[in-house]
Amino acid sequence: MSSNYLSNDSLNYLNTTNRIPMKDWRCRDASLYSKISQVGEGTFGKVYKAQYTSKTNTSYVALKKILIENEKEGFPVTAMREILIMKRLHHKNILKLIEIVLSQPNEKNKYRGNFYLVFEYMEHDLSLLSTLRINYTIPNIKCILHQILSGIGYLHKNNIIHRDIKSANILLNNKGEIKIGDFGLARIINPNPNIAKRYTNRVVTLWYRAPELLLGETNYGFAIDVWSIGCVFSELLNGVPLFNGRTDNEQVEKIFEKCGIPNEESWKGVTKLKYWKERCPNANYTFNLREVYKDNKKVDDITFDLLSKMLILDPSKRITVKEALEHNFFKNEPLMCKPEELPIIGEDSHEYQSRKDYKQNKILMEANRGNKNLINNINHMNNPNNNNINIGNNNNNGVNNNGNKGNNNNMIIGKNDLETNNNFRNEFLGIKRNPD
Ligand code: ADP
Ligand code: MG
Repeated sequence: MSSNYLSNDSLNYLNTTNRIPMKDWRCRDASLYSKISQVGEGTFGKVYKAQYTSKTNTSYVALKKILIENEKEGFPVTAMREILIMKRLHHKNILKLIEIVLSQPNEKNKYRGNFYLVFEYMEHDLSLLSTLRINYTIPNIKCILHQILSGIGYLHKNNIIHRDIKSANILLNNKGEIKIGDFGLARIINPNPNIAKRYTNRVVTLWYRAPELLLGETNYGFAIDVWSIGCVFSELLNGVPLFNGRTDNEQVEKIFEKCGIPNEESWKGVTKLKYWKERCPNANYTFNLREVYKDNKKVDDITFDLLSKMLILDPSKRITVKEALEHNFFKNEPLMCKPEELPIIGEDSHEYQSRKDYKQNKILMEANRGNKNLINNINHMNNPNNNNINIGNNNNNGVNNNGNKGNNNNMIIGKNDLETNNNFRNEFLGIKRNPD
């Protein structure tokens, strides 16, 4: 039997949990789309850029392949969650799931057809913040952050926590629109604070994981997404990840080093959390987060006020998404730019490609150290057509176009500029991103 069909258990699950009857699921043939290139590789399958050609025009989509390891296990629960949740979401800052398609069993796929989720195609993900290190202006940052908060605010209003907010899961297209993707860990929660929940705390990629999760809290809520957004906000400002620990313990230490060690007075109940004794560092750290931005002129008092409220250790005191959207950061001059005024990045950029580039850079560095055997590889990869990444910047002077001061600089980031970032890039990408 081919695995083109959901197992009976999975079908039951879908039918009982999902209010959309199976008969309404459009499941067309995957051959309607032709794959162009791979743009992502995740835990549960590959993501491809693909083309759809109709009689009148050509458009692009992203195909996320669902890896079905064996028939007994059936359809993966993460993919099910992703489908069930995404089918009911309709917001301009949430990635749109267009349909689910099925490929025909053939020799190439060992007679096991594959399911693909079809999404609108997005040219970039925000991992470009630390790989290309684009110097976004404050109006740009306000525009991006406002869109992220609007998307997550919509989820929270619908009682959904995302549970994996990080730069690689925030997508950006060439129209300057931000869309939240990757709902593999998302879940619907009971918003009643008086009902104690027991959710798994093995969620969120380590660098973006809130302190309550790291300390073993299972009764958590929307505030974990706010912490992750705070980490992305810091990356927007500084171009580097904020807390880049390699283990759970190191992550806690990095957070407390900047935010101070909490106690029962600043965070009621913290010392009762499961991993408090094991993970709390034996040190006297006090709050000194401001230091991280001391040389960054973009971070004025209002900016830091919003950022630090997203990074409050006690989740019950952390700012909510709704409050963040109303913060003076968005009301004060310079105002946010329009999405279409964000810098345009010439080439598509996704985390997957950056990781591949990292591997190539490593070869280049080896060669620079005199390893002649590798020179052939370098010659092969130094394709002159690939040298430049063009960034056309509509509004590079920190003033929004509503303020009538926009200029039309065209900025080109060339290969040499990118190579100056290699040390950082290697350091960043060399660390195992999710040690769990
Ligand atoms: P995973 O659960 O494997 O992390 P994601 O949905 O996050 O899966 O996809 C992995 C990567 O693929 C993303 O980080 C992004 O770079 C790329 N990607 C995902 N969706 C799209 C899309 N709609 N358009 C373009 N690239 C995408
Ligand atoms: Mg992802």
